[in-house]
Amino acid sequence: TISGKGNEHTLLSVLDYTITPMGARLFKQWLQQPLLQENEIEDRLNLVNELLDHPELRHEFIEQLKTVFDMERLLGRIVTGRSNGRDLMNLKQSLRVIPPLQKHIKTSGLPALQAAFANFDPLDPLAELIEQVIVENPPLTIQDGGIIRPGYNAELDELRSISEGGKDWLLTYQTAERKRTGISSLKINYNKVFGYYLEVSNVHKDKVPLEYIRKQTLVNAERYITPDLKEWEEKILGAEDKINAIEYRIFQEIREQVTAYIKPIQENSLKIAELDSYLSLAQAAAENNYIRPQINNGTGIRIVDGRHPVVEKNMGHGEDFIANDTRLDAEEQIWIITGPNMSGKSTFLRQVGLIVLMAQIGSFVPAAKAEIGIVDRIFTRVGASDNLALGESTFLVEMNETANILNNATPKSLILLDEIGRGTSTFDGLSIAWAVVEYIHSEKKLRSKTLFATHYHELTELAMLYPRIKNYNVAVEEWEDQVVFLRKIIAGGTDNSYGIYVAQMAGLPSNLIERAREILSNLESNELTPQSRKPRLAARKPGRNVNKNQLSLFEKEHNGKLKEALKKVDINHLTPLEAMQKLDELQKILHETK
Ligand code: ADP
Ligand code: MG
Repeated sequence: TISGKGNEHTLLSVLDYTITPMGARLFKQWLQQPLLQENEIEDRLNLVNELLDHPELRHEFIEQLKTVFDMERLLGRIVTGRSNGRDLMNLKQSLRVIPPLQKHIKTSGLPALQAAFANFDPLDPLAELIEQVIVENPPLTIQDGGIIRPGYNAELDELRSISEGGKDWLLTYQTAERKRTGISSLKINYNKVFGYYLEVSNVHKDKVPLEYIRKQTLVNAERYITPDLKEWEEKILGAEDKINAIEYRIFQEIREQVTAYIKPIQENSLKIAELDSYLSLAQAAAENNYIRPQINNGTGIRIVDGRHPVVEKNMGHGEDFIANDTRLDAEEQIWIITGPNMSGKSTFLRQVGLIVLMAQIGSFVPAAKAEIGIVDRIFTRVGASDNLALGESTFLVEMNETANILNNATPKSLILLDEIGRGTSTFDGLSIAWAVVEYIHSEKKLRSKTLFATHYHELTELAMLYPRIKNYNVAVEEWEDQVVFLRKIIAGGTDNSYGIYVAQMAGLPSNLIERAREILSNLESNELTPQSRKPRLAARKPGRNVNKNQLSLFEKEHNGKLKEALKKVDINHLTPLEAMQKLDELQKILHETK
């Protein structure tokens, strides 16, 4: 998203149902790197199709994937020697998911699924090794023991029983001393500085036997040691040091053995990420009512009832997304799409781009039917994202982007141009937009499929001049003073930008709106000379427009005559000489009406 709010309102957010971290990463890559080969796209679509058709199986897979850890991250820690006992247990847990996945794949009878996941490897020897050596809930540190299972190493087991025996002795000693001294709150504790000690609160200070050796005085207690206590302390701590050393050594050995499996673990991790990504596409298709696109190597794009995958998800209550058709091919190479502001032009352009992109990552698409000739690139010039921080004006950014498109697009490309020439004067902008469309239409190395949304309704004239340019517009219904956007793209141009209606909708003062209408109607009758501007500036006086109205009546009349005469010409049966005479005749009509 360019609005900078994470994944909100993005295609990714609509399609991403991945469960595992590595699945999420791979899925993002799929979106960023659409496929160009028909067979690769079909392979993905086949698999998505199978998963879509088997919701129960999908559910099984999803439940399994929920218990998988981030295997790539675990691998990273193993490779760099930073893994701990818990990492190995998490790796084991993740590997243990593979056998049930394999079983479901095997019994599914689904060919695409089976082909894609034939070489899943549960790495049983590795999983078993970890299971035999590492305890169920190992600590995060590897130097303080508590990692290795009992029964794995005899020396370790023996030391542990010594250590535990010592701890039993401590308990017995504490009970005995309480009884002997009559200090019921006496307790044995341990810290790193003094080792084991007896703690007596100040209340019982007078009951402390003589042989206790004082080590530390606290605010309300004193700490003592005894020779017996120190003797056992040595036994316990000695054993514990040894235990920790042995555990550390064993753990290093195991870690070393795991390193030998790095490659197959990586492959498994990728397979799980792939399965996760396929499931995500199937889930998105199921949730959003997508259909399978038909992919081909041609250059045409046909979409029936296409929808914008993100906008349709975010429609308000009671609103319906209006589906639209698209046809781009050898006959309809360029669509000029006119329509008022806010009518849905940008949405339409983007939805076509997104549907093509989705098809080429192997996703189902939001449409009733879609035939997609694989595109090599999708070029867009959309939105007015200013790069002022880098010293570029909106218009320059726009022109940079346009230059990039014209220099790199091919006949297999899809070009989406949303308003070209906005950031400069009307005539400038219109001229550039016009020339750009001509260029895309006629330059042999381009001839790219193009959707061009514009508020310059003058551009609709291009369709009369060039065979592969077609006009479309977003249907609008005028009702009393209101404009209702129908959001339906229909054939034909429009001669109205409805900008003033939008301004009205937005709440500009009503006398201002009226004045704007007046200026517009004067501009549209081409009154741009200084004299003709005067009556407009002296606005709101009755009778001000008499001259203008007469003039335009005149124009209409002579246009009509010319039109009639032109219509009657039968070019196929004219000799060159007759053609010259005809021209002369037409010129006379022009003179006589002036
Ligand atoms: P334009 O580019 O013509 O100014 P947008 O494409 O930005 O118009 O559309 C304006 C708003 O209209 C969108 O934000 C969306 O909410 C709504 N809209 C656009 N197309 C549709 C559609 N096909 N169905 C329903 N609502 C739509
Ligand atoms: Mg727009």
